[in-house]
Amino acid sequence: MSVLDLFESMEYGPAPETAEPALQWLAQHQPFDLFINNRRVKPASGQYLETINPATGKVLARVAAGNGADVDAAVAAARRAFPGWSKTPGHVRARYLYAIARHIQKHARLLAVLETLDNGKPIRETRDIDIPLVARHFYYHAGWAQLMESELAGYEPLGVVGQIIPWNFPLLMLAWKVAPALAMGNTVVLKPARYTPLTAMKFAEIVEEVGLPPGVVNIVTGEAGQVGEALVRHPDVNKIAFTGSTEVGRAIRRATAGSGKRLSLELGGKSPFVVFDDADLDSVVEGVVDAIWFNQGQVCCAGSRLLVQESIAERLVAKVRARMEKLRVGDPLDKAIDIGAIVSESQLGEIRRLVERGVEEGAQLWQPSTACPREGYFFPPTLFTNVAPAMTIAQVEIFGPVLVTMTFRTPEEAVTLANNTRYGLAASIWSENINLALDVAARLQAGTVWINATNLFDAASGFGGYRESGFGREGGKEGLYEYVRPRWEGASGRASRRRGLAEAPASGESKAHSGNGHAEHASNGVALAGSEVFADLAGRIPSIDRTPKLFIGGKQVRPDSGYSLPVRDPQGMIIGQVGAGNRKDIRNAVEAAHAARAWSGASPHQRAQVLFYVAENLAAREQEFALRLVQQTGRPYADAAAEVQAAIARLFSYAAWCDKFEGSIHRPPLRGMVLAVREPVGVIGIACPDEFPLLGFLSLVAPALAMGNTLVVIPSPQAPLSATDCYQVFETSDLPAGAVNIVTGEREPLSQVLAEHEDVEAVWYFGSAEGSKRVELAAASNMKRTWVNYGHPRDWLDPVQGEGEEFLREATQVKNIWVPYGE
Ligand code: NAD
Ligand code: MN
Repeated sequence: MSVLDLFESMEYGPAPETAEPALQWLAQHQPFDLFINNRRVKPASGQYLETINPATGKVLARVAAGNGADVDAAVAAARRAFPGWSKTPGHVRARYLYAIARHIQKHARLLAVLETLDNGKPIRETRDIDIPLVARHFYYHAGWAQLMESELAGYEPLGVVGQIIPWNFPLLMLAWKVAPALAMGNTVVLKPARYTPLTAMKFAEIVEEVGLPPGVVNIVTGEAGQVGEALVRHPDVNKIAFTGSTEVGRAIRRATAGSGKRLSLELGGKSPFVVFDDADLDSVVEGVVDAIWFNQGQVCCAGSRLLVQESIAERLVAKVRARMEKLRVGDPLDKAIDIGAIVSESQLGEIRRLVERGVEEGAQLWQPSTACPREGYFFPPTLFTNVAPAMTIAQVEIFGPVLVTMTFRTPEEAVTLANNTRYGLAASIWSENINLALDVAARLQAGTVWINATNLFDAASGFGGYRESGFGREGGKEGLYEYVRPRWEGASGRASRRRGLAEAPASGESKAHSGNGHAEHASNGVALAGSEVFADLAGRIPSIDRTPKLFIGGKQVRPDSGYSLPVRDPQGMIIGQVGAGNRKDIRNAVEAAHAARAWSGASPHQRAQVLFYVAENLAAREQEFALRLVQQTGRPYADAAAEVQAAIARLFSYAAWCDKFEGSIHRPPLRGMVLAVREPVGVIGIACPDEFPLLGFLSLVAPALAMGNTLVVIPSPQAPLSATDCYQVFETSDLPAGAVNIVTGEREPLSQVLAEHEDVEAVWYFGSAEGSKRVELAAASNMKRTWVNYGHPRDWLDPVQGEGEEFLREATQVKNIWVPYGE
């Protein structure tokens, strides 16, 4: 062919993104078997499923249809590999992860093309975003494997982790799951999405190439109902990490309730894209394109609700429409394409159904005049105006290239509108006024907030949701805690803990504590002499009748039921009565806790002051509280006094932590920074343990308060009087009314009401195994976070078990605020 001919035809040479090498690779390797123990294993069913190219509707390859028996085999392989892998030094694990990152880069082009073929997303995105982020994730976590021993001292891996991922970022979601799990010493059984298993098959090859020990990573493809459910229910899986729809997340929460399996859920969203009238509108238009037409809008954190200040709405919408006319929809392997194919026929049908619904409900539909391919599963970029907040398309995640627009007048209205959804995954804020933007960022319910930017991701910056977008984080240091547990909690720890409890003050750490208690008493001769007298009397003379009411909104109120419950000492003698709280009292308490949310805005310094003051007022009544413990538990006075001392020390600890458990600043590869802010979870319901009636109560209340939450607390039903005695301590310590609300009564029905309550953001439950299960089950209704003890007591005197960062992490959620800068 001559140069002249080339000028004539103007044909391009083959692009490096051509499908040929990937198709060849598929032809050589398919049908794909399961990957277990570093070996290709035929599925027990003998069946294979087809995976298609959504841009053409044609079959790409056949992939094993795994089932429960295959999951059993994979879990067994992972279990066998766990002891070795978890004991592999961090440096060695780091080398493996580093090697994986290198191999991802070496095969970057093949992976990008495979991903585009299987998913339908534009090659420009797989090449420049998905695959580089995958490599970055493995590099980043190679670093954490290296540092685990020093930076996560006192933590150990969980064991075998079941990981379930969606089809929208197949290899990236694999990386987000596999990298932290391996870095922390866990072994993995991964289930790729039904529509997009191919890059996971290539990843299996990489696992072999780098020589990862057999069984560390196992991959089981197949249908959700076969593989996914079997993995979720498998008794030998220690954790499920799931990314997908909120609906399936809820089902998984219910299926794992009470099993003791750890769970992290990255779910759906309906994220707001908020534009103020002083925003740079040309940047905004490009932002909108990235927010909702990136990956055909099949992005969990897609900016799918465009919220515009009224004064500029018309101008912006006109600009967006003009830009939409220029978007090219078509062959995803074409580098000049903006929008590729929708992943599957059924997903396309779902998008069509919701768009029709929008039209029926009266919203104004607009689509550009440009062509959309007829073959394959394509959907044009779509804009809805004249949308009311209650319409289906304004509430439901469409997961397609469909944008809905609404307007607001004031920042106040913008915040209300933005937060008017059950989700809380992400948000973008556009304004040239940094004061306004940061103020609004703080008020949005979202795990990630981008300022004058959107859809930016980095391994160092944790990603995950607030509210019904799930819980847990992927990436960042916070993401590591999803794959470890405190060492003492481990199987051996559990046994020694039980021993420790029986002879509580005799175990190592607690000895130090009660030792302190004694020392202080000894130095205070008067107190010691006095206390001995009281201790002597406590068992013999009838006590003055006390009937504490409930404590709601800073007031002592009678229980709605009008009934009281007797409190008995260990001999069965009645030593008091407490109110029999019911459903209505809990509801009132939740309302009071919400009304007191200003507590979250109090400065950490102010919160510290209040906690110090609570400690001071408790110390002033130390003897009374110790006697109360003697009375309720029959323990020796010295023991009770030690508990009060420990409670005072604990209050000091959390007063100290108030202004020290701070966020961090990440430096992702862009000009700017990410502010990782720790925010309170909101209203937390707490059911207190029976062991250590005062210390158990304050060990939970103090960290939750310190981090700015407001609380509804159910004290130990067996020994509630230590908590009710705190009413006066709280009242005299400048704690705002409603910050702590206390409802006495039976633990099970009351915590059930808390777990079901739609306005409670988290429940901490320290009671029975069955009660733990009930709480986890009920919490699925609004996907609230739970922290339960599965019936295992803690030694609350032991600072390793009874206080520290574990409590602070449960009391907070991380919001990552991306702040790019530069003109
Ligand atoms: P999906 O929930 O239907 O499926 C996700 C995965 O779970 C798939 O592998 C599927 O096979 C499996 N699965 C389905 N039912 C199951 C069950 N009962 N038990 C066990 N496993 C089961 O979601 P999808 O349609 O694949 O993905 C789209 C959804 O994922 C969207 O709602 C999107 O918002 C969400 N998503 C969230 C994030 C995030 O990080 N928060 C990221 C990507 C996608
Ligand atoms: Mn496919």
